[in-house]
Amino acid sequence: MTLNRHTGKSAVRETETNSPMLEAWRGQGVLMLQRCEACSEAIFYPRSVCPKCWGDRLAWFRASGKGSIVSFSRVHRGLPPKFEAEVPIVLAEIRLDEGALMIARVVTGDPAAVASGDVVELVSPDAAKRFDLPTFTPSGRKISS
Ligand SMILES: [Zn+2]
Repeated sequence: MTLNRHTGKSAVRETETNSPMLEAWRGQGVLMLQRCEACSEAIFYPRSVCPKCWGDRLAWFRASGKGSIVSFSRVHRGLPPKFEAEVPIVLAEIRLDEGALMIARVVTGDPAAVASGDVVELVSPDAAKRFDLPTFTPSGRKISS
């Protein structure tokens, strides 16, 4: 996501490659990932070549929308105006159940309680309409490490 310097609004840069993921999120609140047909690697972010084996036959599939937090930051400053009422914003590196890593926002009523290892899932399809990109929320369960 980039910011328009003049308006301060976020602008997701949509391309031919990431469009299936963005359309699925906007339309249904679901997360689509790619899987390499040669080596079965689940891939995020969207791209045209497998980062593991360089295969170019990638197929889209619907991810479970579940994962766990590897690491995270609570961001208090430097955010665009539209986020100011919601600070701190939790940005997390999430290990999806399919194996891919992604950076995404975790929305929660208690940002101070977020911890590495927390299990997260996509926000509900209704809540998804508020967010430009796939967004997660704590599922209330912990994984043992
Ligand atoms: Zn591959």
